[in-house]
This record gives sequence, C-alpha cells and structure tokens, in this order.
Amino acid sequence: MKLYNTLSKKKEEFVPLEEGKVRIYVCGPTVYNFIHIGNARPMIVFDTVRRYFLYKGYEVNYVSNFTDVDDKIIKKAIEEGVSADEISKRYIAECKKDMEGMNILPATKHPLATEEICGMLEMIQVLIDKGYAYEKNGTVYFRTRKFEEYGKLSHKNLDDLQSGGRSLLVSGEDEKEDSLDFVLWKPKKEGEPSWDSAWSAGRPGWHIECSVMSKKYLGDQIDIHAGGEDLVFPHHENEIAQSEAANGKEFARYWMHNAFLNIDNRKMSKSLGNFFTVREISEKYDLQVLRFFMLSAHYRSPLNFSAELMEASKNGLERIITAVDNLKFHMSNTQTEKMTDEEQDKLARTETYVKSFEAAMEDDFNTADAIAAIFDLVKYSNTTTDEKSSKEYLKGLFDLLVKLNDVLGIIVDKKEELLAEDIEKLIEERQSARKEKNFARADEIRDELLAKGIILEDTREGVKWKKA
Ligand code: AMP
Ligand code: ZN
Repeated sequence: MKLYNTLSKKKEEFVPLEEGKVRIYVCGPTVYNFIHIGNARPMIVFDTVRRYFLYKGYEVNYVSNFTDVDDKIIKKAIEEGVSADEISKRYIAECKKDMEGMNILPATKHPLATEEICGMLEMIQVLIDKGYAYEKNGTVYFRTRKFEEYGKLSHKNLDDLQSGGRSLLVSGEDEKEDSLDFVLWKPKKEGEPSWDSAWSAGRPGWHIECSVMSKKYLGDQIDIHAGGEDLVFPHHENEIAQSEAANGKEFARYWMHNAFLNIDNRKMSKSLGNFFTVREISEKYDLQVLRFFMLSAHYRSPLNFSAELMEASKNGLERIITAVDNLKFHMSNTQTEKMTDEEQDKLARTETYVKSFEAAMEDDFNTADAIAAIFDLVKYSNTTTDEKSSKEYLKGLFDLLVKLNDVLGIIVDKKEELLAEDIEKLIEERQSARKEKNFARADEIRDELLAKGIILEDTREGVKWKKA
C-alpha cells in the first residue's frame, strides 16, 4: 500500500510500526459552531483510510480530538452570554450527529483538550527542563531554533520564516527571545477559562494539545498523523517540534493532508463566510450524497463544491443503489437457489473489479478510481443478472457490492425501518386487495414487506406480522 507522505513529498510504501496494527491521529475541529462541509472533507477522507485498513485486516486505533478551548469558542460564549463549556459541549454533540449522518465511524477515542490539561502541563515542563521552552511573564514559549529539524514537514527555511515572522512581533509577543518562538501556555485574560500552572493561571496553546493527546492515546510514536493541508504549517510543524523534543523519538511516520474544499475556487471557510454547514446540506440531500461527492475526487486534489457536482454524485449513487435494489428484487423472486457452472465462472470474474478497486485504494487512496471500479461492477451486475439468475449468484454480487461500498462508508443496502403504523396500513391494503381478488397486488405487498424484513402470517385471528 502506498501513501503520499508530506514529510518526504513522495508516495511511500506503508510499513506499520507494529505488524497488523495502525495508529492514526486526525486533528479534529474547533467546536464553536456547526461544522461546515470543508471540515467534513478530512473527516470523510480519513474515515475512508481507516475503513480500508480495517478491510485489509489491520487493527486500527484512531484518535481524533475536539479542540474545546479556543479564542473563537470564548468569543461565541460571550456573545451568547453562556459559558465556553456550554458552547463546546453543544457543538460537539451537533458535530457527532453530522458525523453519524455521513456514516463516519466514531473514533476509538475523541479526546477533549480541556480534559487533558494535566498531560499538557507535564509535557511543557519536560520541554522547559530540556531547554526547549522558557517562561516570560507567565507565558511559556517553545524555543524554535533549538529544534534543529524545524521546518522538515513544511519544507520551510528558518531564515525565510524569520523575515516573515518579524511582522508578528506586534501581536504582544515582543517579549519572545526569537520571533519564531511559539506559545505553549498563556495567561488568562479576564473572564476566560483557566487552569492553574507553575507559570500562570492560564490555558494551553493549540499545538501542544495535539502532541499530548496523541501521546496519551497512541504512544510516543504513531503511524499516521493527518488533517487538512492548512495544518501543515504551523500546526503540524509545531507538533513535530514539541513531540520530538519532549519524547526524543520520531513522532509520526507518515503525514497525510487533504486539499481544500473550495467554493467558486476559493477555500471554503468560516472567516470568509463562504461556507455551507453539513446541517444545511442535509436539508437538501441525504448526507451519503455528500460523502460520495467528497470521495469522487482524490483527497489531495482541490475539490470545488457546486450544485451540478452534487447532482452528479446523487445520480451516481442512485445508479449503485438501483443495481443493489434490483439484485434484492431478483433474490426475492427467483425460483433457482444454486449457481450454475456458468454463473460460478461469472462470479469468479468479478475478481478483476475487486483487484482494480484495491489497486486504486493502494495507490494513495485513489477513491475516484475505486468508485470507477464499483461502477464497472454495477454495469456487470446489471448485464449479467435477471429474474432467472440463481439466488446464490445474485447474493454473491450483492455481498460484493455491499462490501466494497462499505469500505468507502457508502451504505447501499438501506434497511428502511418501517414504522408499525406503516406496516399496519400495508396489511390493510393487502386485505382489501384480496377481497377484490387482486391477488397480484396482495402478493406484491407481501413481498415488499418481506424485502424490508417483515414476515406476514395469516392466522385465524387475522394477519399477524413479525420481524425476520
Ligand atoms: P478547524 O476547525 O478550522 O481547525 O478545521 C478542522 C479540520 O478541517 C482541519 O483538518 C482543517 O484543515 C479542515 N478544513 C477546514 N476548512 C477546510 C476546507 N475548506 N477544505 C478542506 N479541509 C478543511
Ligand atoms: Zn492537531
């Protein structure tokens, strides 16, 4: 399996730190509002990476944080006249609902920055003890030039950064030894949430949070660290400096970054105000369509959001679901159970589609090509099946389509939960159809219910139903 490593700027063969296991850390959102569909891109992309590792038989430990202490959260809390905690709790809950709608597996652990302050105090102290950090008036800074490999991820040169950084000195950090130094701990301002520390009552800088949460839940070294490409610098560069300076080991073997989701070819972001929330999109589309749309492009290519592309994704997804529905329909109607020899051959030939699907995924998670392989399989399924196909053959194709789509997190076999009252209504309709001797309709209703997992029993007391 090959993946593009931002660190080496090359596609590299994936070799896990520990055989059969993979440890992934994905930087999560800052929770001060509903997530927008730009934030959804890394969630969907790296959930798919995780699912592919699971498909390959790896045990995956997947950690993704929520940044729940931040200037933007505090600002929103002041605007609403509530606590910062109330804001972050509210939007974590909303984010989890959106994630469920997009069929994103819950992480093995979703740590919250505010619950990991102890670990941050410890790591900052280690950095001070090792000479990588210093305190000035209650603020603790990381001594960037002391970490010799600084810049290795973003491929930036320290002197170029230095000239760019001078202008930053106006931001009240002129007490720093060097303009390149960044904050690990800062004293609180009036009304802000704070924690006691040896340096001041204050709160952590953003970068130290991820170094600490990754260490605590995944260990000093991890396989993959991921996030959107805007995080390469300074966030991930700083995470590397902190973790490697504190732990004395290489932090992450592979660094993966998704490109932006754009709108009118500009980055979709809250600060530019040109964004759609996942919630807004869910009012118009099933969120599976959004997921399918995101995966229709390679994760390292910029993706432009448009109504046309969403419609195209909706149609594409429907094509797959229709093929799966047809298989289900034939399965419940066919008279033949066992595969013929010819069908056995045909089923064996689907291996080529599985191979292309896997080859695409193993080439730096090329989901666009993986979807193309699924479309080829859909076409094959449509052209090699009919009502005379055996149940076994139909089931073989059905299982394969469900399995490959599941790797992409796309649900193609929706088990619609029928409400009891809807079932009763259909049973009544079936009774009237029978009275009118419209047996075809009566049978159709029975089959329709059966396909949704409801079995009808004609008893002396009337029709009864149960779940299959
Ligand atoms: P934030 O809440 O801004 O820290 O973002 C959370 C995650 O979403 C990070 O991995 C960002 O890189 C990513 N992200 C934010 N905006 C976009 C966008 N327009 N396209 C792709 N990823 C984004
Ligand atoms: Zn992070």
